[in-house]
Amino acid sequence: MRVSVVGTGYVGLVTGTCFSEMGNTVWCVDVNEEKINALNKGIIPIYEPGLSEMVLRNRESGRLNFTTDIAEALETSEIAFIAVGTPMGEDGSADLQYVLSVAKSIGKHMKRHMYVVDKSTVPVGTSEKVRSAIQEELDKRESDLTFDVISNPEFLKEGSAIADCMKPDRVVIGVDSPCAEAAMRELYKPYFMNNDKLFFMDIPSAEMTKYAANSMLATKISFMNEISNICERVGADVNKVRLGIGSDKRIGFSFIYPGCGYGGSCFPKDVQALIKTAENFGYKSKLLQSVEDVNHAQKGVLVKKVKERFGDDLSGRVFATWGLAFKPDTDDMRESPAITIINSLTDAGAKIKAYDPKAVNEAKECYLKGNDQVDYVDSKYEALKDADALILITEWKEFRSPDFYEIARLLKNSVIFDGRNQYDANRVAEYGIEYHQIGVRLDP
Ligand code: NAD
Repeated sequence: MRVSVVGTGYVGLVTGTCFSEMGNTVWCVDVNEEKINALNKGIIPIYEPGLSEMVLRNRESGRLNFTTDIAEALETSEIAFIAVGTPMGEDGSADLQYVLSVAKSIGKHMKRHMYVVDKSTVPVGTSEKVRSAIQEELDKRESDLTFDVISNPEFLKEGSAIADCMKPDRVVIGVDSPCAEAAMRELYKPYFMNNDKLFFMDIPSAEMTKYAANSMLATKISFMNEISNICERVGADVNKVRLGIGSDKRIGFSFIYPGCGYGGSCFPKDVQALIKTAENFGYKSKLLQSVEDVNHAQKGVLVKKVKERFGDDLSGRVFATWGLAFKPDTDDMRESPAITIINSLTDAGAKIKAYDPKAVNEAKECYLKGNDQVDYVDSKYEALKDADALILITEWKEFRSPDFYEIARLLKNSVIFDGRNQYDANRVAEYGIEYHQIGVRLDP
């Protein structure tokens, strides 16, 4: 099929590339000229495992094209995906300006009947706004072209986005016409040769499914963080409690790791947007508000532990931090707990030596830009030299089995604050390292 994907970010670039991998002809469109120029030169603007090879292969074959000109892309396309950002607006609701601007451009430039598919995460009712924006432009052109609006929320996870896209657990599609359903079935059939996991439903249910999924996952995380805070106070070990409850099949092990709070481009804004949507319909979601409040507080837990150990005034202290990205295997730092943790420590007078395998540029150029108390280093051990303690923020694989002998040797004080409970406390103790975890009380 001939497909345009408008918005070439984490979602648009990955889904566009995966559509081309299945043999479709794809145009990826973005307003960011720098990004499109880079892609046209074979430079991939984001880090996502396996993406680079797949982009280059499909670009080479002529099936994957990049442009800033939506008219060029729509010239031959029969399906147009909207995959632009829906950031948190000032009042917490999803900001739809980019989605509606794309809808207008589609109305302005479409040449034939189009299936307009919303892949961005948007509140219930957005498809109607998209429909009106397209129709307004068609009316201005005095065009009688027709179109279908479809909702197809995306569930890929940064870090495993290619696998998620090529072998999805499910594809949720909201439609209101049989021909829209047929077009989506044709596009997605190659992904499910043996096992159909396509869920067709009405558009509002599809739009809501995405918010419900992210809110459920965020709830699991906040629940476990809440349990970890109680564990710490009563003298229980949350690591053992996690194993104890995860082994119950009804609960399961996923998303019950205690930590220093969830971040990323989705959970924080989507939980907030669902709270706001509910409010707009006269319903106050106490549960989701608590999920959000617990997460906000959790981002301060590691800093509190550091201050309890080293005092409120951290002037003259240097801390090594491992991890900047909001999770491993991505360079994405949007809403990363690292931002709150590092800024709180430097506000209290500390200096930071930061290491992350992929997200240093993001930190330097955007999320920690202007914080001149942060030095960036090229290796995890370099960060430790003469630091007062190590603070582990993101659980990259390369931090899982470090050389504890080196850690103890390089740090000024042998202290680790672990925001992801990565290590065996007994093993760490063998090296004389003081080990602070989330949800485990440190024995005096
Ligand atoms: P992103 O910020 O990485 O990418 C958005 C892209 O859209 C940018 O490159 C931007 O330049 C471009 N853009 C903005 N306005 C445009 C316009 N008028 N025309 C063309 N391009 C335009 O965003 P993302 O992380 O890919 O997220 C996109 C949507 O998908 C969001 O609604 C998000 O909530 C949802 N989503 C994201 C993820 C994820 O893991 N990142 C997962 C599932 C769903």
